[in-house]
Amino acid sequence: MTEPLFPLLNLSRLRMGIDGEGVTTLVAGAGCPLHCRWCINKRILREPPRELVTAAELLERVRIDDLYFQATGGGVTFGGGEALLHADFIRRFRELCPREWRITAETSLAVPMEYLHSAISAVDLFLVDCKDMDPEIYRRYTGVDLLLMRENLKELLRTVGPEKVIVRVPRIPHFNTTEDQHRSALLLRELGVTRLDLFDYVLREDSAAQ
Ligand code: SF4
Repeated sequence: MTEPLFPLLNLSRLRMGIDGEGVTTLVAGAGCPLHCRWCINKRILREPPRELVTAAELLERVRIDDLYFQATGGGVTFGGGEALLHADFIRRFRELCPREWRITAETSLAVPMEYLHSAISAVDLFLVDCKDMDPEIYRRYTGVDLLLMRENLKELLRTVGPEKVIVRVPRIPHFNTTEDQHRSALLLRELGVTRLDLFDYVLREDSAAQ
């Protein structure tokens, strides 16, 4: 089998309560199918990756925080970009890393469903950024159709159950309102989501300028 490679953009250690449970190391990879208006990573996501790493190489870099991970129930969070574009790599990393580490994937779920199926056995927690559940708002903000995300979310809830899924519901400046945000939360609850995180996107000058 060919060893999967990960297009590493950035690695950020000792994070608490931002992207997963316990102490986490965020591993950001290149590539994303969406075109979000306020994306702060827009430029680097489309550039060639700075380096490609194997799962064993990544493990060597993140192992330094093993004690923190094990003591706090944390682990490695794959983000980006879109983590599920690298589902094969995440599976390989799961095979190699200590069983006690929690593997988290940050995802928009806007990927072909086979990527989702491929990642499910390797991921302990899915952090889903839903953007907005209104098809028109979603398309205006991301440039793509909402249908894929919604079908993948239903499939995810059906296969792993709601405990392993946290859906983030943002209020997006100039794109939706607090009412839209609460409407999305209601629709998500009707789909079976039990863990919701409502928050505000904060615009930075560089995202507004892109
Ligand atoms: S899903 Fe995230 S990484 Fe992808 S374009 Fe949107 S904000 Fe950027």
